[in-house]
Amino acid sequence: MTRYRDFHRRSIDAPAEFWRAEATRIHWETPFHTVLDASRPPFTRWFVGGRTNLCHNALDRHLATRGQQDALVSVSTETGIERRFTYAELYDEVNRMAAVMRSLGVARGERVLIYLPMIPEAVFAVLACARLGAIHSVVFGGFAAASLAARIDDAKPALIVTADAGARGGKVIDYTPLVDEALARAEHKTARVLLIDRQLAPERLSASYLVAYEPLREQYFNAHVPCEWLESNESSYVLYTSGTTGRPKGVQRDVGGYAVALAASMEYIFEGRAGDTMFTASDIGWVVGHSYIIYAPLIAGLTTVLYEGTPVRPDGGIWWRLVEQHKINLMFTSPTALRVLKKQDPALMKAADLSSLRALFLAGEPLDEPTAAWIQDALGKPVVDNYWQTETGWPIIAIQRGVEALPPKLGSPGVPVYGYNLAIRDAGSGERCGPGEKGVVTLGYPLPPGCMTTVWGDDKRFVDTYWSEMAGEPVYSTFDWGIQDDDGYVSILGRTDDVINVASHRFGTREIEEALSSHAAVAEVAVVGVADAVKGQVPLAFVVLRDAQAAAAPDDRSKLEAALLATVDRYLGAVGRPARVHFVAMLPKTRSGKLLRRAIAALAEGRDPGDLPTIEDPAALQILRSVLEGG
Ligand code: ATP
Ligand code: MG
Repeated sequence: MTRYRDFHRRSIDAPAEFWRAEATRIHWETPFHTVLDASRPPFTRWFVGGRTNLCHNALDRHLATRGQQDALVSVSTETGIERRFTYAELYDEVNRMAAVMRSLGVARGERVLIYLPMIPEAVFAVLACARLGAIHSVVFGGFAAASLAARIDDAKPALIVTADAGARGGKVIDYTPLVDEALARAEHKTARVLLIDRQLAPERLSASYLVAYEPLREQYFNAHVPCEWLESNESSYVLYTSGTTGRPKGVQRDVGGYAVALAASMEYIFEGRAGDTMFTASDIGWVVGHSYIIYAPLIAGLTTVLYEGTPVRPDGGIWWRLVEQHKINLMFTSPTALRVLKKQDPALMKAADLSSLRALFLAGEPLDEPTAAWIQDALGKPVVDNYWQTETGWPIIAIQRGVEALPPKLGSPGVPVYGYNLAIRDAGSGERCGPGEKGVVTLGYPLPPGCMTTVWGDDKRFVDTYWSEMAGEPVYSTFDWGIQDDDGYVSILGRTDDVINVASHRFGTREIEEALSSHAAVAEVAVVGVADAVKGQVPLAFVVLRDAQAAAAPDDRSKLEAALLATVDRYLGAVGRPARVHFVAMLPKTRSGKLLRRAIAALAEGRDPGDLPTIEDPAALQILRSVLEGG
C-alpha cells in the first residue's frame, strides 16, 4: 500500500504542489497565479486568477481529436427513443441552446433553473449555462410544486428550462402544471419558462411566460456562442442536498477546482480513459449525475450514457443489455438500484455479454454486505464502493484503483481519497480516535478542489453548519459516523443524527439494519428510533421482503418477525432488538434512492413528516401509515 500512502501523504503535506500538477489536465485560457488561497478559513480558493470554462473543457477542447466520437448516447426505455450525439453534434446543440438562452436574457452570473427529465436537452442546458457563465441549478424533474417554489425563491433564476413531461415506470408525469403552480407560489418572479416539447403531455403553462424551444432552436441553428472565460472561483452551479436529514442546503461550486478534481478522479478513481463509454445510472438532479453523467466523462473524452427509465423495465436485464449493446466500460449506480436488481432473475444478468465492463461503481448510501457479496460474485469484476456528499462533488473515500488497486474489504468503501485530510474524531472532545474507535468522519482544512465553496447566498450557514474548531483547527463535519481500521480502511456507520438511545445504550440504526439484512428473506430494511416513555427510545424496523408472499399469512408473519428478532439478538444482543418488525411493500426514498428515515420516524411517532421534497413515490408513506395503524 505504499504507493497509495505516498500519494495521499503528498496531497496533504503539499497540497499546492500536488494540485498544481493536476491542473494541467484542463485548459486554462489564462494561467492562475496562486494554486491555493487558504488565507480565510474555512473558505478556500483554488487556482486563483486562472480563467477557464467547463463547457470548453467538456466539448470544444475535444473537437479536433474526437469530433466524430460519440459524446452522448441517450436511451429512454420509457419512450423507446435512442439518440446519439458525437462531440461535434453535441457542441452544435449546446451552442444552439446557449444562443437561445442568451436571446432570452441569460447572462454571466445569472441563474437558470433546470427542471427536466433525463433527456439530451438536459445535458445541452447544463453545458449551455456553463458556456455562458450562467449558474445552473438542476432540480429533480417531477419535484412537488412547493419544493420547486422554494428553490425558485432561493436561486432566483432568470430562466426556467422545463419539458412537457417526464416518464417513469410507464407513467407520464406532467411537468407544466407543477411549474405553473410553483411560479404562482414563488415570491421571485421568473419572466420566462423555456419549454422542451416531447409531445408526451399537453403543456399547460400560462402563456405569459411560455417560450417554446423548438422554433428558437431553428432560428439559432447555426449559432456559435463563445465561451465566457470565468475566474476559477466564480460559480458554476448551485445544487441542493437531498434533504434526507433536514432542510436542503444550496451547495455552491466553483469552476476551475471542480474541473481539475473531476479530471483527476477519472484517472485515479474511475480509471476512465478517453474513448471509453461510461454509464452512470443516476439522475441529473443529483450530484452523481452532475459529476459523472455530465462533466467528468466529457472532460476526460469519454462517451456518456444517459438513461431515462427504471432498472426493471421492460425487465430486470435492461441495464446488462445496455452494457452489451453499447460496450459500456464503466458503470456507476447506487446500492438501492442493486438491491432492486438482486431481486431479479439471475439469468437476466448471465444472458448479457458483459465482457466490455471493467468495473462497477456504487455510491449514495451504505452498501450492505449481502448486496456487496452478491454483486461481487455475480459480476466477477471490481465493485468499487465510494463515499461522498453533494458538498464534496467527488469521492472522499474509495479504493483508488488508478493509484493502487488495494484489496477491497467488505463493509468499507475503502481508504481516504488523495486531497482529503480525513480524520475520525470523538464527537465530544474533537480529538482523533484511534484505529477501531467509532467517531465522526471529519475533513481537515483546506478541502481539496471541487468541494463546495459556500452555501448559496448564506456564508454564515456554510460556516455554522459544517465547520467547527476541533483541537484548535477548523474541521469540516460530514455528519456521518465512521471507524478506521489499522490499514486505514474506513467504514461508514450511519449518520450522526441516526443514533438511537435505548435504555442508555447507544446504537446506530445502521448497525441494526445490517443485522436484519443479513437474513436471507430481507430485501430492504429501515430502522428508526421512536420515543418511548420507559426506554427513552426504541428501534422500529420496516422490512421489505425478497418474496412479498412470505409474510402474507399472519402466522408466517409472526414466525418471520421472530426469526428476524433472533438475528438481531445474535448480532447485537437483546437491547438492540426492535420493538416491532413491520413488513411493507416499499420504503419511502428520495429520487436519488436514499431512505427517508426522517419521514419514517415522524410517521412512527404520529408526527407530520413535513416537507418531503424529494420523495420517489408518495404511496410509500401511505403504506407506512396503514401498516402503523394496523398495529
Ligand atoms: P441532507 O444533507 O440534505 O440531509 P443527504 O446527506 O442525503 O441530504 P447527499 O449529499 O446526496 O444528501 O448524500 C450524502 C450522504 O449519503 C453521505 O453523507 C452519507 O451519509 C451517504 N453516503 C453516500 N455515499 C455513501 C457510501 N458509499 N456509503 C455510505 N454512505 C454513503
Ligand atoms: Mg448530507
